[in-house]
Amino acid sequence: MKGELNGSSGVMVFAQCSGEKGMNRLAGELAGLGMRLAKDLGEDATVVVCGPGAERAADELAGLGMRTCLVEGAEAVAGSGCVPATVAGPLCLRERPRLVMYGHVPPGDEEAVRLAYLLGAGVTSDCTAMEVCDEREIVLSKPVYGGNVMARFNPESYPYVVTVRPHVGVAPEPGTSVVGEIVRLEASDLLPDGDDAARRGATLVSREQVPSNGVCLEEAGVVVAGGRGMGGREGFESLEKLAGLLGGAVGASRPPCDSGWANSASQVGITGKIVAPDIYIAVAISGSTQHLSGMSDAGTIVAVNRDPDAYIFKVSDYGVTGDWKEVLPAFTARLAEMKRQEG
Ligand SMILES: Cc1cc2nc3c(=O)[nH]c(=O)nc-3n(C[C@H](O)[C@H](O)[C@H](O)COP(=O)(O)OP(=O)(O)OC[C@H]3O[C@@H](n4cnc5c(N)ncnc54)[C@H](O)[C@@H]3O)c2cc1C
Repeated sequence: MKGELNGSSGVMVFAQCSGEKGMNRLAGELAGLGMRLAKDLGEDATVVVCGPGAERAADELAGLGMRTCLVEGAEAVAGSGCVPATVAGPLCLRERPRLVMYGHVPPGDEEAVRLAYLLGAGVTSDCTAMEVCDEREIVLSKPVYGGNVMARFNPESYPYVVTVRPHVGVAPEPGTSVVGEIVRLEASDLLPDGDDAARRGATLVSREQVPSNGVCLEEAGVVVAGGRGMGGREGFESLEKLAGLLGGAVGASRPPCDSGWANSASQVGITGKIVAPDIYIAVAISGSTQHLSGMSDAGTIVAVNRDPDAYIFKVSDYGVTGDWKEVLPAFTARLAEMKRQEG
């Protein structure tokens, strides 16, 4: 339906679309979280999408029971499927939601800060928990001091902008609740006439191809990650071989990214990506709190380290004490053989 939201959204979620694939996983998680918080506040939640894939994403999000606002004629932030702050700003000024959410992944984490500036609102980034107390008070939690302390915040003024880490929310199962309505808004109703720059939000200056085996790190079922003990770029080639056999993605702790052995996009941890694969294989990684906070939700953690006292063993389900140069080639060769036998 064409229409109006009528200022009834207590919680407004700005989701990211994945082009032809429709909504991405984080959009579903934010939708689930937004609905839960809105219910606890006794208000409504709305998820907003725009750009390529938004039609499909809107159908999927509505299928999760979420009221969905499709902004037509607005471009997503270049190459990202993310609603730009220049579009989110006028929408929030019109609707006055209490809580505004973006995912804590680029460029949503940056758009959230721009949006807070446009609204003159407070912002808390990288939230790992959100709840409603006494029916009105919103309490946000996030790690501070390198992940060693959890801080809790109470917004004192509204609207309030937050970015939420992946895997914090839980996407509702499709078809378990009533299908949400889809409200279509024209970007031209929100933005000044002829303001094409606002419609785009940002201009793409250049694009750099990040080498990858095609498996998205945040969504991979298996992550094979290497640390400083890999010793160089060659070590990461061994990890890529193993990840390829397992259909997984390669991750890294911070030192290999800083040294250029691994791409910075593969960094896992508090200042990198947050992953929750079924299996996380940590090779030559000591297990710092900063690294663990990016992967501790993995289903099964396997560690390979030559130091039997390495902290990573304390959080692992399976551990191999040894030099990766011996362990990894033997394991990879055995796996390749098993796959050959399977046909
Ligand atoms: C504000 C801040 C943010 C940070 N953010 C992050 C982040 O997001 N992600 C992150 O990872 N770090 C982050 N760090 C850095 C973090 O504190 C650690 O320094 C880092 O995680 C250590 O990486 P590592 O385990 O690879 O290296 P190390 O701690 O040096 O461990 C290397 C391990 O390799 C083992 N090893 C060595 N050689 C071999 C071998 N041949 N075979 C088997 N094992 C071997 C060693 O026994 C050791 O356990 C951050 C730090 C700060 C201050």
